[in-house]
Amino acid sequence: MKLKGIQGIFHKELDTVFGKNEVDSFFNILISHYLKLNRIALVLEPDLTISKEEQQPLFEALSRLKQEEPIQYIIGETEFLGLPFKVSEHTLIPRPETEELVEWIVKCLSERSEESKLTILDIGTGTGCIAISLAKNLPNAKVYALDVSEEAIKIAKENAELNKVEIHFIKADILGKDTWNLEFQNLKFDLIVSNPPYVRNLEKQEIKNNVLKHEPHLALFVEDTNPLQFYKAITDFAIDELVKNGLLFFEINQYLGDETKQLLQDKGFLDIELKPDIFGNNRMLKGKKNI
Ligand code: GLN
Repeated sequence: MKLKGIQGIFHKELDTVFGKNEVDSFFNILISHYLKLNRIALVLEPDLTISKEEQQPLFEALSRLKQEEPIQYIIGETEFLGLPFKVSEHTLIPRPETEELVEWIVKCLSERSEESKLTILDIGTGTGCIAISLAKNLPNAKVYALDVSEEAIKIAKENAELNKVEIHFIKADILGKDTWNLEFQNLKFDLIVSNPPYVRNLEKQEIKNNVLKHEPHLALFVEDTNPLQFYKAITDFAIDELVKNGLLFFEINQYLGDETKQLLQDKGFLDIELKPDIFGNNRMLKGKKNI
């Protein structure tokens, strides 16, 4: 069958849901992933035909796209700060806002002299995107990554291997002290970072179907009545486990910037900074432990 014909079917079936440009972009990603063809291939060779075997993954992807499954889950991979990452339905798809958080951390650390021998912990690592990109950018740092999900840790381990960095993984629930108490007995961190679940149920109507129907709710949602649950637990943990002057970085809920900042203030953190993302939303928070 002609590839152009398949592209036509994609447009016919998907344009009403996603719009023409996004469907073009999906199609290009798919032919690059499955057929190693780039977008010019169709321009240069409009009559290009492909075999039945080659068609099969494209039609399979089409039916998954119809269910609004994210393209990253369909091809099983994405990019974060230019690095390749495997993803599965057990991990959030890394977001551009989180890239900004990592860039901010690297910039702040480059202003501190002891950058090279830092010990870092990422809490709720998911794909491992924060921990791995930090390890990549700070080659002498010792990086630990914690997650409650066995499946997420499995993907994060594969990603550490893929990106050729060493990460020390810990399976634990940050809300349940008995699951991690022993792990941290002889450890202290210079920096703790987390992008924990922070979307309230009341914000569900703002969330697009591709996220709501396919990304892990465990990694996304918190109770409306206690939306800072993870921030409280992680801040308390940080007070015990950070070195003096150690840094705490968070990705945060854009609607809860003031409350989350207040939490760090109440716990005695210094040099607190709230930072907007490229979309102008309060998305990142930093504090320094005072004692
Ligand atoms: N920023 C993500 C979203 O909007 C949420 C990430 C999180 O809950 N930590 O879907």
